[in-house]
Amino acid sequence: MQFKTLLNRVHSVKGFVYDKDTLIEAPTQVNGCRIEAHLRPRKHSPGICSGCGERGPTYDTQEERRFDFVPLWGIAVVLVYAMRRINCRTCGVKVEQVPWIAPGSKSPMTLAMTVFLACWARRLSWKQVAEVFWVSWESVYRAVEQVVAYGLEHRDLSGIGAIGVDEVAYAKGHRYATLTYQLDAGRRRLLHVSEGRSVKSLLRFFHLLKKEGKRRGLDLIGGIGFVCSDMWRPYLKVIAKKLPGALHILDRFHIVANLNKALDQVRAEEARKLVGQGWDVLKRSRWLLLRRRKRLNGKQRFRLRQILQWDLKTVRAYLLEEGLQAMWEYRSPTHAGRFLDAWCRQAMRSRIEPIKKVARSLREHRESILNWFRAKKLYNSGIVEGLNGLVKLRFRKAFGFRTFGAIEVALYHELGALPEPKVAHRFC
Ligand SMILES: [Zn+2]
Repeated sequence: MQFKTLLNRVHSVKGFVYDKDTLIEAPTQVNGCRIEAHLRPRKHSPGICSGCGERGPTYDTQEERRFDFVPLWGIAVVLVYAMRRINCRTCGVKVEQVPWIAPGSKSPMTLAMTVFLACWARRLSWKQVAEVFWVSWESVYRAVEQVVAYGLEHRDLSGIGAIGVDEVAYAKGHRYATLTYQLDAGRRRLLHVSEGRSVKSLLRFFHLLKKEGKRRGLDLIGGIGFVCSDMWRPYLKVIAKKLPGALHILDRFHIVANLNKALDQVRAEEARKLVGQGWDVLKRSRWLLLRRRKRLNGKQRFRLRQILQWDLKTVRAYLLEEGLQAMWEYRSPTHAGRFLDAWCRQAMRSRIEPIKKVARSLREHRESILNWFRAKKLYNSGIVEGLNGLVKLRFRKAFGFRTFGAIEVALYHELGALPEPKVAHRFC
């Protein structure tokens, strides 16, 4: 079997034929060599103008260029081809467009290699992909970027009925990104990544929908009936303005998180005070108090019970926090509402300022919280929480991302469920 046969099997290119192939000694490359496979135009097959996509007569031929292809048996493979210039009737003299690179791409990487690297970048960190396939980190970035750009351009944004908005911290918590997800059953994906967490950050998502809707003659915003978010004011403002008819659901996940934060604040202050008085009952109690009781082991439960005997602010805050959990079991919004009101009254009498602050905000957002029950728990926060968990995982995996651009590309790639450029052969 000839090498050509193999190439034709995995990567045949219309209008071109594989010519000679050579094994070149290349001491600087892994395993000391590379395969060069030469391509030439098929006879009587005029080139395609990169300006308009029409075929035209050849004007001249440029110097040979090399395009990185998927490696074989630890040996780098490059396609070698001398690009023709086309004398196009419409565009004048233009370089031809060849099918093994993306239209308009100046990259020396074949589309097959691009998709190959991007595919691996979903399983490994970009750094690992770069190491395994002996390319630079930047090459992996460019490959993913190209695949994501294709996906964003070709994705279908119609039929969005439920969205979730959330923020995520990056750069050691110093910077934020706003993420918008689609939450419809069977269609859960990341729709938009935007820098910051301001009004403008979220508005960019609606601008995108408007623009895309105009292009396709569809109303993409009007179909959104449910929106999940936290209590972050800029988001609330945009949602109220852009989705006045949608049912706004305050996320259970965020309510619980806020309450936990308040509890932790109470605990930290009181622990400091008690240690000052020479009593360390609250020492190392943070996880005991913040973890759900059923997730503690026997020894931890015993310690928790010991702490709960004392008349401490922390204990009262803990019991209030635990008490609110029961609300999520209700089915009827009316009953849940009564429970919430009673809980808020009790919390307001607690004389624990951080808890009172949460109670005030729950009162203010009462209707949005009860919308969770009205939406029949369909679009509950578990989904948002799950997606956010994936985002955090991605951040850990993507250790080394410095720019927002790279983070954006990585998140779309991983969570955007984007369509990918079609390649005839599956390399991985
Ligand atoms: Zn042209």
